[in-house]
Amino acid sequence: MEKVRAEVRVSGIVQGVGFRPFVYRIAVSRGLKGFVQNLKDASVRIIVEGPELDIKSFLDALVKEKPPLAHITKIDISYSESKNEFMSFEILKSSEQSLVTGSVIPADVAICDDCVKELLNPTDRRFGYFFITCTNCGPRFTAILDTPYDRQNTSMRDFPMCELCSSEYNDPLNRRFHAQTIACPKCGPMVYLTTNNGELIACKEPIKEAAKLIDEGYIVAIKGNGGFHVATATTISEPIIRLRKVKHRRQKPFAIMAKDLKTVKSFAIVSNQEEALLTSPARPIVLLRKSEDYYLSEEIAPGLHNVGVMLPYTGLHLLLLLNSKEPAYVMTSANPSGEPIVIQNQEAYSRIGKDVDYMLLHNREIVNRCDDSVVRLVDGSVSFIRRSRGYAPEPIVLSHEYSKNVFALGGELNVTACILMGDKAFLTQHIGDVECVETYEFLKSAVHYLAKLIRAQPEVIAHDLHPGFQTTRLAKELAEKFKIPTIPVQHHHAHVASVMVEHGLEEVIGIACDGFGYGSDGLAWGGEVLLCDGNVFRRLGHLENHPMPGGDLAAKYPARMAAGILFGSDICEEWLFSNTDKLPRGRDEAEIVLKQIKNGKNIKTSSAGRVLDSVAAILGICYERTYEGEPAMKLESVAIGGSDILGLKPEIKGRVLNTKYMVESITEMAMKGLNSKKVRDLAFSAQNYLALGLAELALEIATSECVKNIVFTGGVAYNEQITTTIRRTIEAKGFRFYTNTRIPPGDGGLSLGQAVIAARLSD
Ligand code: ZN
Ligand code: ZN
Ligand code: FE
Repeated sequence: MEKVRAEVRVSGIVQGVGFRPFVYRIAVSRGLKGFVQNLKDASVRIIVEGPELDIKSFLDALVKEKPPLAHITKIDISYSESKNEFMSFEILKSSEQSLVTGSVIPADVAICDDCVKELLNPTDRRFGYFFITCTNCGPRFTAILDTPYDRQNTSMRDFPMCELCSSEYNDPLNRRFHAQTIACPKCGPMVYLTTNNGELIACKEPIKEAAKLIDEGYIVAIKGNGGFHVATATTISEPIIRLRKVKHRRQKPFAIMAKDLKTVKSFAIVSNQEEALLTSPARPIVLLRKSEDYYLSEEIAPGLHNVGVMLPYTGLHLLLLLNSKEPAYVMTSANPSGEPIVIQNQEAYSRIGKDVDYMLLHNREIVNRCDDSVVRLVDGSVSFIRRSRGYAPEPIVLSHEYSKNVFALGGELNVTACILMGDKAFLTQHIGDVECVETYEFLKSAVHYLAKLIRAQPEVIAHDLHPGFQTTRLAKELAEKFKIPTIPVQHHHAHVASVMVEHGLEEVIGIACDGFGYGSDGLAWGGEVLLCDGNVFRRLGHLENHPMPGGDLAAKYPARMAAGILFGSDICEEWLFSNTDKLPRGRDEAEIVLKQIKNGKNIKTSSAGRVLDSVAAILGICYERTYEGEPAMKLESVAIGGSDILGLKPEIKGRVLNTKYMVESITEMAMKGLNSKKVRDLAFSAQNYLALGLAELALEIATSECVKNIVFTGGVAYNEQITTTIRRTIEAKGFRFYTNTRIPPGDGGLSLGQAVIAARLSD
């Protein structure tokens, strides 16, 4: 048979995912000769020589049998005559093997099926070993100190390989060939149990012992790959109530980790799409609807229709849950309130020791803290609440290549930063709320570290328009240090731009709804309809402005906000004084609120979040916001299955949607008396009014501006009823509708929008 030579270039995610050993195996098994090599631009080059048929079968396998984490976007093949140049097939160790500028740093990968099999196989030498990993799975980003990604540059450098591990590591046919995190019980990290102040508890099987302690109602801190968790049982409420007390977290839902998919289905409703997310290599926390016979403690996610669930993603987690009688554990990030997740053992004793009873630790360093990611399906598509472990810092590929490197710093809450370089935008892991010093320092170091990994020098700094944000302060600091310009970006403009980037849109009408963003006029925006064209925007519509009596207090106590919205209508005082129990200081406070509104000096807001909060208070669903978004989230939960009994037609005047009209109608109905069905239907009606009103406003503007694309973003886009209603209304009129699907519509996605706007402005 005639021999040929094929030169192949494969692009996509093909480095750091076991692609070269895979190519080696399929080449050698077909008797082909040649080589495979990583190239500088993160692609892979292959040259094979051999009989034509074998080469065809090789190329076939290349696509069909590729490793699970590989993602091929392009294959170029050129054929020529065989030169009989090679004696064998080899993996070339090119000098360019290093991860070069702008190429991809792999995100952490959940334990793979092959490793699970070995973990549970009594004859395997890694049977029951908590730190089992391979080329296809294990920590990556959280373990990488520097590039190139090889063992010396990871936290595994502290664990020299034993002979057996080393031979596996060097054997191209072994599935751990060049697996940088390879380890075994003989040479790898060790796990141990301590008291809450670090005193070692001697026991043979620390993981089994920890599981027993959690089952018995103790609170146990668990060191994972990207940080510490705090774990409790889920079928008993006592430890969860105790945890709420020590964490000063009265109502905020806790995420849980369930034993397996079957167990998840015993307490939650899981669609095929949600199942795929739960079991994906990123293994995020997925918000699932509680089932009718939900039997876990109500303390986990009080007042909400859904619960955040993840599956075990390391050998440690899997062993823990397999040894437990509980169906699931509460698994919440271990951090003092508002501060970043704890990653060091010593830090754990001092900062969370008093909050827990025991600690399950290991002796491997966590290089990068990385919280669990949180996603939810909204209107049938993925919506990121938090994009972190399993995703960060993999870049978003842009449709355009920009000339300047931009560092964008996000907003104030749920911050991520973004480094834009060339045609890629790298978002950091979840940083958190940068109001406290520790988180601010974390933001600084995360940006610095990401820049180092991808070899990026800042040339422009983008930040939020708000003059008082910590991120604005940091922007100024960096600009001074590097002698580079800063570009402020309006909050809702950045939100809309983030959707435009994701979908490669040039001109859109953007609906951006959230709790608060600093407006170009200095007011508090949060229910905006913007025309965005390239890097400029015009605010063409918004929700009605209402006074916020007491400023931030109106966001914390939504009854205040309700009074602000109702002010001027006949029922305002009547409602306020018959609901003084909804304010912490009762009647006295109600009088103050009224005075505050009357003096007219309050900041005004067009926030959609504040309108939803008010309705939650009026319907008796929530009177105090103990965590971000609480009243609106509880309103959404209550509204499920309801119908629109108000049937109000949205009132739009001068491109301002009247929201007082709706809140007034709800209040009138509520004052006639409430029952649970009426509360549900009124909650539904309020959300329906807002959604229809926003959609109509956007359609009116889109029609007059001749724009075909309408996008919806901001934290309110997590609300399923509102998003679905807006989409349907817009599509019914023949317009195209888009939302965020790869980065958060909430403030965690701001940095991407900021970065792209700044990059365009400085191109
Ligand atoms: Zn594996
Ligand atoms: Zn070993
Ligand atoms: Fe926002």
